[in-house]
Amino acid sequence: MTKTPFTYGRQSLDAADVEAVKEALESGFLTSGPRVAAFEEALCKATGAPYAVAVSSGTAALHLAMRVAGVGAGDRVVTSPMTFLASANAAEYVGATVDFVDVDSSTANLNPAELERTWDNATRAVVAVDYAGQPCDIAGIAGVARRRGALVIEDACHALGSEITVDGRRYRVGGHGRADLTTFSFHPVKNITTGEGGAVVTHDKALADRCRLLRSHGMTKDVAGFKGLGRPEFNEFGPWYYEMQDLGYNYRLSDILCALGISQLKRLPDFVRRRRAIVAAYNEGLKDVPRVEGPWESPGVASAWHLYAARVDFSGLGKTRTRVMAELLERGIAAHVLYIPVHLQPYYREKYGYGPGKCPVAEQFYRQCLCLPLYVDLEDGDVQAVIEAVKQVAGAR
Ligand SMILES: *Cc1c(COP(=O)(O)O)cnc(C)c1O
Repeated sequence: MTKTPFTYGRQSLDAADVEAVKEALESGFLTSGPRVAAFEEALCKATGAPYAVAVSSGTAALHLAMRVAGVGAGDRVVTSPMTFLASANAAEYVGATVDFVDVDSSTANLNPAELERTWDNATRAVVAVDYAGQPCDIAGIAGVARRRGALVIEDACHALGSEITVDGRRYRVGGHGRADLTTFSFHPVKNITTGEGGAVVTHDKALADRCRLLRSHGMTKDVAGFKGLGRPEFNEFGPWYYEMQDLGYNYRLSDILCALGISQLKRLPDFVRRRRAIVAAYNEGLKDVPRVEGPWESPGVASAWHLYAARVDFSGLGKTRTRVMAELLERGIAAHVLYIPVHLQPYYREKYGYGPGKCPVAEQFYRQCLCLPLYVDLEDGDVQAVIEAVKQVAGAR
């Protein structure tokens, strides 16, 4: 295992993960086989959601969520600017109008009060992101959106294994049912990995069935749902027969990758414990460092912490962020900045006329954001080395 530089995130693979993939390769099933359903079942257990559909990426999961939510041209979709591009792009794929609502300053998650204040009746869906792994205020967001007939899609690509209390009950993200659809990503930097991969989970069987249909070209081989080909002589539903009932995609996740996912999910409780321990160590080690602030965790949640997003007062420090990152890199630490507020991206500025000032809280968060390495294979000594380096660079010693 290479020790330097420490990147902001990376996968953890053990011998059992490798063995699971090898076994899948040797089983003869390379694409859709028994491990897909087994992985989906394991995802249901891990999240508490009754239905899960494994797909080829988190972006594919978001695209399917948009499709099955019935979002299309003329609809408005609102998301948080403090997210990866895909949360917004999925709405663009279906021809909707994308808009951004500012975040809460302590969590960098979508602010329900702002959502309400800026509500527009064309809004068909809200994509609520669990930034850094911290569950968004789903009760507040769903309270605003669902009452007005919009669907809630929780982009939980950071939050597999995170917990939240809703109405006095404890849930894992995906399990509370306040979101109509919840999406996950299994990219190597995320909380578990399948290389590339993702999933949609839901409490609504009809939405899950539609996701499953669209995952593979809108094509079905289920005789119960056949519509026929338009004339009785064509309707011999023999073993070859298949029907395309909607325009779908190839968003399948292979058996090989589902084997890895099943193995990784077994490790999720350990992963979450380790991530939380590293975050606690960072918070403790950095608490007295001036101009550096660790992340805030809301009461009633337990974040699985995908990111350690510190806030640094660079101007107070008298160094640019580029300089701080260069000085950290000299000490073997590749920090990162996640994310550039999506409404400032040229595509969104040019298409919609959005720009600076639209979401001032997110813009301020962006100016201060610095993500330190956070992944389960970081050892305690590595975490202390990062803390020491940050102290040196921040001039705390
Ligand atoms: C990673 C990520 C995605 C996209 O997932 P991919 O698997 O890379 O397609 C979407 N939203 C958020 C918040 C993410 O972090």
